[in-house]
Amino acid sequence: MKSIVSVLACAAMLSFAAGADAQMARPVQTFDTSKGPVKITPVYHASLEIEAGGKIIVIDPAKPANFAGLPQADLILITDIHGDHLDPDLIKAESKAGSEIIAPAAVAKTVTTAKVIGNGEKTTWGDWTVEAIPMYNTTASRGPKPGTVFHEKGRGNGYVLTYGGKRFYFSGDTEGIPEMRALKNIDVAFICMNLPYTMTPDEAADAVKAFHPKVAIPYHYKGQDTAVFKKDLEGTGIDVRLLDWYPSA
Ligand code: ZN
Repeated sequence: MKSIVSVLACAAMLSFAAGADAQMARPVQTFDTSKGPVKITPVYHASLEIEAGGKIIVIDPAKPANFAGLPQADLILITDIHGDHLDPDLIKAESKAGSEIIAPAAVAKTVTTAKVIGNGEKTTWGDWTVEAIPMYNTTASRGPKPGTVFHEKGRGNGYVLTYGGKRFYFSGDTEGIPEMRALKNIDVAFICMNLPYTMTPDEAADAVKAFHPKVAIPYHYKGQDTAVFKKDLEGTGIDVRLLDWYPSA
């Protein structure tokens, strides 16, 4: 009996240690604002968590993102209908009493409790302003079949979130569209890059040069060489941060 108890205790300690390690290994980014720090935790691919003023925002919780050790969401933002962004199981797991969801109309067909905002619309949530930015493909040859694209204009939302005077942009799945290039006063930009779904690192860098955020962070980049993106932006003054969005654990 005693040995079983100690084995169980040992297993519990090991799993606690593994969770703590995963937590410590996360490349959390902290940004100062007039309302205090905003902490952004990359979780996996397009999944991430934001903490500010004691409130938690989760963007695109989707498998196999591991949120172990991170608090549940007060607000969940969803960009699009695809499985790497919209996952009813993880939305449920990351929700608690009072959690709110903001999403485009196409997502609200599945996530019926979501408050809908569409491209170009803006809403407020606590101390945050949430602005929906278009995200779509422009290169037809990258579609699932001739004449179609993975992301049709108007369906999904990128987001610009403003808090304490700082503006954070999350591109969603898109190419370097005019609406991205025309963004103003972005402090931190999270930029997708992967083919055939979005764009190449070179194209992403070209679009980022056009709106010149202070900080640019590749995400949703599976299979891409983000060093190319960083090299393209050398000498621009843009602080490019390459983080690991695909932890092996
Ligand atoms: Zn995607």
